[in-house]
Amino acid sequence: MRKKYDYLIVGAGLFGATFAHEMTKRGKKCLVIDRRSHIGGNIYCENIKGIHVHKYGAHIFHTSNKEIWNYVNQFAEFNHYVNSPIANYKGEIYNLPFNMNTFSKLWNISKPSEAQEIIEEQRKELKGKEPENLEEQAISLVGRDIYQKLIKEYTEKQWGRDCTELPSFIIKRLPVRFTYNNNYFNDRYQGIPMGGYNVIIEKMLSDCDVELEVDYLKEKDKYQDLADKVLYTGMIDEYFDYKLGTLEYRTLKFETEVLEDVSNYQGNAVVNYTSHDVDYTRIIEHKHFEFGEQKDTVITKEYSGDWKVGDEAYYPVNDDVNTKLFKEYQELSKSEENVIFGGRLGHYKYYDMDKVIEAALELVHQETGE
Ligand code: UDP
Repeated sequence: MRKKYDYLIVGAGLFGATFAHEMTKRGKKCLVIDRRSHIGGNIYCENIKGIHVHKYGAHIFHTSNKEIWNYVNQFAEFNHYVNSPIANYKGEIYNLPFNMNTFSKLWNISKPSEAQEIIEEQRKELKGKEPENLEEQAISLVGRDIYQKLIKEYTEKQWGRDCTELPSFIIKRLPVRFTYNNNYFNDRYQGIPMGGYNVIIEKMLSDCDVELEVDYLKEKDKYQDLADKVLYTGMIDEYFDYKLGTLEYRTLKFETEVLEDVSNYQGNAVVNYTSHDVDYTRIIEHKHFEFGEQKDTVITKEYSGDWKVGDEAYYPVNDDVNTKLFKEYQELSKSEENVIFGGRLGHYKYYDMDKVIEAALELVHQETGE
């Protein structure tokens, strides 16, 4: 018997929505379900006082892939926001990413050659050894002074473990520059969608059926037979009821405050708190993503914590142990007929948004052979 849908897509985040949109465009019938009460996954924005509040953490779109940039621009126009977070270390303010502004404030110097000399000197403690963990990688990139003030405690708060126990690739995400350039990203294209991220997902899903507040794993019998294939974008270990053990994640907690009649609280969208003195990792002032001129402001303190079953999973912890366990789950998933796993949680990968779209389009390509 023909099923009602070609695809059941579990999860209305960016991966699921991109896939649903593309398959619908190709004449496939898609049903998208999500356990939350809204679409958009973690890029969802809540409108508070006319400000788009990034409810599940700050999202800044950036990519060097022109195709992906053109792709997202069909759903929304992007503003000219450039991410330039600052770091607050015990009240001292430094520019990020690590660049000449950071170096000159820290060491009272002005020339790139002076900064390079200091870093070169500090790097000597590694005795020429290839960095094997985040701490060594950080010292190799920027030296111990910066590591101590801007990396060590922040990273330990964010990841809940010592920098010597973390993979070096995490810190390689950040540029190090010997120019006075505070742009956090090296990417060619960057911005925030005008009207907020919801506009994108709403457009992507406009021709699909969507059901919210449906927990697929609890209602599998009802839903799995509705479609020929299932795309599951939730946690792969949860799908299998953790039968091989739990993968590790970091969870986040957000404390959002509306500050009435405060038009500008911190002068920047993102301020990282890089010392252990405060428990939160950063404060986001959402209006600055869109150059808002509202009379009030909304700020969010972000806390990172150990994930346990039942919490929202945000960051996969891609160390060796978890990577091995993930591979085992991936093996197991091969026996699951007509189920595809995707997205940050399904792929257990620290994806940025552009990479999520890339991966979803790659899946479309695999499914259609185009
Ligand atoms: N990081 C840091 N200090 C900072 C900002 C970032 O040490 O002020 C390190 C930290 O290890 C973090 C990594 O760089 O986990 C990646 O930061 P990014 O801002 O890319 O993380 P995301 O925005 O994805 O949470």
